[in-house]
Amino acid sequence: MTMIQALRGTRDILPDETPLWQWVESTARNLLFRAAYREIRPPLFEQTSLFERGIGEATDVVGKEMYTFEDRGGRSVTLRPEITAGLVRAVNENKLTAQGSVLRLWHVGPAFRYERPQAGRQRQFHQLDVELLGSNDPRADAEVIAIATNLLQTLGLTSLTMDLNSVGNGKDRQRYRDALVAFFTPHKADLDADSQTRLDKNPLRILDSKDEKTQAIAKEAPSLLDYLSDDSQRHFDKVQQYLTDLGIGYQVNPRLVRGLDYYTHTAFEIQSADLGAQATVCGGGRYDGLIAQLGGPETPAIGWAIGLERLTLLLKQLATNPTTPMDVYVVSRGEAAEGDALKMAQALRKAGLAVEMDLSGSAFGKQFKRADRSGAALCLILGDSEAAQKTVQLKWLNTGEQTELGQDALLDSIDELRQNIQAAR
Ligand code: ATP
Ligand code: MG
Repeated sequence: MTMIQALRGTRDILPDETPLWQWVESTARNLLFRAAYREIRPPLFEQTSLFERGIGEATDVVGKEMYTFEDRGGRSVTLRPEITAGLVRAVNENKLTAQGSVLRLWHVGPAFRYERPQAGRQRQFHQLDVELLGSNDPRADAEVIAIATNLLQTLGLTSLTMDLNSVGNGKDRQRYRDALVAFFTPHKADLDADSQTRLDKNPLRILDSKDEKTQAIAKEAPSLLDYLSDDSQRHFDKVQQYLTDLGIGYQVNPRLVRGLDYYTHTAFEIQSADLGAQATVCGGGRYDGLIAQLGGPETPAIGWAIGLERLTLLLKQLATNPTTPMDVYVVSRGEAAEGDALKMAQALRKAGLAVEMDLSGSAFGKQFKRADRSGAALCLILGDSEAAQKTVQLKWLNTGEQTELGQDALLDSIDELRQNIQAAR
């Protein structure tokens, strides 16, 4: 029989890797809890029109990358290519933004894009998403950015850089857009094919092109920062001041854009030089127009998403390898001893210890080898004579020291056992 393989662009996160993922997730969860963010869990698929409206039809994501299909009821359905649109849909539908109140939310889970798979780029990948809705205060921008940098730092990533920009408000961008069209039109024939189409639909995205020739032309393009209104400039200045006050490093990159109408003011990206072509770990920005665009009340908002595949790639390069070893490994041989061992293991688990039981029935020597490899602090040994006397051998795997105890006596002294296990680590 041929073996069925995973789809191109998908990957199994294997048991050797999940401790790293769990550590990232629990670190994020703790940190977000301490900043008053609450978790939300929207569905993985939505009506296609949500993403068309919520991300924009002129983007690569909607134009080329979505997993869209018709379900059995004839509806057009799309696997979410990112988290924000579905999260805002959930907020609107459940009326979570009461007037004047701030809503802080986070979510972690898979997203799907039909892209060419490569290191740090998959068709099913994972994002950690953080959103602050209901405030246009520049302190909100600073808070949200500080959470991202704090998380990355807490995880041990110190050599990251942040690009920061302001895309202003809708009016600023309209004036800038006109200036860009005027600038790029004489160069139209030299732009890559995508950028030529963008010239009519969404000229800001030309600045985002990865084509070298286009990039060279775009270097000379007018800067968005020269088109900011006084209000937009003030917002941007304050964000920068707060970041500086918080000791967060950044460089202003006027070519960093989020090209849709409902993106406003702050845009930022956090990169690593150690990720090759897929350098961006975190992307985010302000989207004051999106909530109303999706039928909700006018509500300013800002958020970001971290790509967890790229983040864990970086952590693996740092040789970050959190492990969670067992406390106890149980070795037994002979029918009566194996029965006692099963009961003992279950009693210890009920008392809160992490216990792995050897089920092989093989010779003691082989079981001991596995005990050593398990990383457990303590090995419990039960053979025929222990079963006959209702005792158990305790072997401390770091020192090799061994003692014998009654089975009941061991179960009566679990607190002491736990302390000894901790001391042996
Ligand atoms: P890129 O320019 O690398 O395609 P993007 O602008 O499409 O990124 P966003 O939509 O801002 O990315 O998503 C936020 C983050 O999600 C990215 O910075 C990245 O870390 C991660 N990400 C996006 N697409 C993928 C993918 N196909 N595979 C793995 N991670 C991804
Ligand atoms: Mg992309």
